[in-house]
Amino acid sequence: MEKILISACLVGDNTKYDGSNNLKKNPYMDALLEKYELVPFCPEVSGGLSIPRKPSERKGDQVYNNEGKNVTTNFLLGAERALDLCLYLGIRVAILKETSPSCGVHEIYNGQFKNIKIKGVGFTTELLKRKGIRVISEDEIEAFLQEK
Ligand code: SF4
Repeated sequence: MEKILISACLVGDNTKYDGSNNLKKNPYMDALLEKYELVPFCPEVSGGLSIPRKPSERKGDQVYNNEGKNVTTNFLLGAERALDLCLYLGIRVAILKETSPSCGVHEIYNGQFKNIKIKGVGFTTELLKRKGIRVISEDEIEAFLQEK
């Protein structure tokens, strides 16, 4: 069965900054599990950040938390570990959580902590795409399932 990397919070792991998850927003998870082996992964936790943690937003090529601390190193490490896992397991597709500074696929927050979204990608999405791994958002699962 083909393996797919998936943001851990999308399958119910409480890895969000506030200790919760994003499972309830994904009605297609059962159908996905019938066809693929899902590999849950949280770049921010893997990059050394705690649960819970301060929310962070991307600003250019840096990431800051809402207290102004630069956490870019953690985000870069998490992205590299996601890539390492994909390469090790032969994963060619990742489904990541929209708007996250790590996992955002089409949109992220603008770095001002004012709940304003802009076009952009998270650090992990950016690295995986650069290395040729297809990244889709949780909003695109239904369309992805209909491809095959
Ligand atoms: S970094 Fe990605 S997997 Fe981890 S909590 Fe945020 S959106 Fe979910």
